[in-house]
Amino acid sequence: MPIRRKIIAGNWKMNKTATESKILVTDILEQLGKFDEAEVVICPPFTALVSAQEALGSRTEVDLGAQNMHFETSGAYTGEISAAMLKDLFVRFVILGHSERRQYFGETDESVNKKAKAAIAARLRPIICVGETLAEREAGKMAAVVTKQIEASFAGFSDEDWAITVVAYEPVWAIGTGKTASPEQAQEVHALIRATVESIGGKAVADKIRIQYGGSVKPDNAQLLLNQPDIDGALVGGASLDAESFVAIIKNACQKS
Ligand code: PEP
Repeated sequence: MPIRRKIIAGNWKMNKTATESKILVTDILEQLGKFDEAEVVICPPFTALVSAQEALGSRTEVDLGAQNMHFETSGAYTGEISAAMLKDLFVRFVILGHSERRQYFGETDESVNKKAKAAIAARLRPIICVGETLAEREAGKMAAVVTKQIEASFAGFSDEDWAITVVAYEPVWAIGTGKTASPEQAQEVHALIRATVESIGGKAVADKIRIQYGGSVKPDNAQLLLNQPDIDGALVGGASLDAESFVAIIKNACQKS
């Protein structure tokens, strides 16, 4: 049975000013205490990365992530942020292809693939989101949708690329809705994702890759979800904006049922 270190990431979305972020990071660190049972990542908005990093200081329990980036390295792309700009602020992870970016900002599997390659070239670790809508699930298309997203978003990946990438399965119908996939529903899709990765990258890659679940993860459902064999972490939205609930999720996720 391969051992995969759990990874819990907080996606703050468009919440928290730089000043508010400093307070939230300080509270998270205080409540987390000394902790090394899982990898913990926070993804504040771009404007709060510096203050979040300042608040993290020399503490190593929490890493910094961003919520998006552009695939070009520099140039005339008004309003965009490059991988190197993130790297320079000590950012280690970047969320790519979140369903909100796909839905509101025209993100496609192809752009996600380009961004992932640019992130990896800059030694940033991509967290690549996939997941079906409610209509797709109800039409029996979940497997086809998720498989296609994986195949297209990860096209041309080398073993080294896979090794630093994290997948996040986020059923769109469970994001911010309070509706969580049951542990069995989530496990079924995580196993499908791992099998798809195996068919593309081989068994060694599939055994190693970490697959997070995201969609209304809360302190009271984190343990059961994270105890499923193919669920290696959580991508947490709303509940990561409160230090107490985020830290409770992190700690519960590490408990064995
Ligand atoms: C997310 O936005 O990645 C997410 C999972 O949100 P929430 O936890 O609020 O459903």
